[in-house]
Amino acid sequence: CGIVGYLGPQNPKDIIISGLKKLEYRGYDSAGVAILDNGKTKRVRAQGKLKALEEKLVNEKFDGHIGIGHTRWATHGKPSERNAHPHQVRGINLVHNGIIENYLDIREELLAQGAEITSDTDSELVAHLIANEVEVTKDLFKAVEKTLNKLRGAFSILVMWEQEPDRLVAFKDGPPLVVGLGEKEVFVASDVQALIQYTKKFVYLEDREVASIRGADVQFFSANGFPIQKKVVELNWNP
Ligand code: GLU
Repeated sequence: CGIVGYLGPQNPKDIIISGLKKLEYRGYDSAGVAILDNGKTKRVRAQGKLKALEEKLVNEKFDGHIGIGHTRWATHGKPSERNAHPHQVRGINLVHNGIIENYLDIREELLAQGAEITSDTDSELVAHLIANEVEVTKDLFKAVEKTLNKLRGAFSILVMWEQEPDRLVAFKDGPPLVVGLGEKEVFVASDVQALIQYTKKFVYLEDREVASIRGADVQFFSANGFPIQKKVVELNWNP
């Protein structure tokens, strides 16, 4: 139900957790993070309150500068650690808010291909689709573009790929998603509330637009794949 992502020189763990706390008002039943650590993505998830996740993270150190986090409000599959996000498929890590309406069709297609599905969520299926595409495209943005055409429903999604450790890709159709622009860092969240203590500059994604973030460089693409200029909104309120 809440998404936070970070790419930059600071410690992703602290930023993601503090952002998720700001999104607690949206309600949730479990939470998780996936953060790069020495070239591998370390994932930690917990059922229940953010406190439970924080406790698991107390002694975790991450030697990396990219990560994503999520608070889940279960719609497909009961609240459990196994169903908590991020979902991980062959180096793809993904968080999702909302629902994928055609998940049954996608699930059938993936099972027919022999996919190993490890949760009961609709969200994990999207991670499989992207993982399949990225093996061909070798480019996370292109893999997302191909996958987006196959999705129906209401979603905001943030994804990273272990093999492009300086890249985040975000897209949505329905629930809000905002990109926060810092000096040498970029943030993504469901709500500016999660990021206002770190930056005042935001770009709001429209439905079916894609944000491709590489380092501190952010590019936006329209629903039909063309690069677009987006308005940067400056908010002058304090947290
Ligand atoms: N449909 C997804 C799930 O059940 C995402 C729910 C949410 O928005 O948190 O895991």
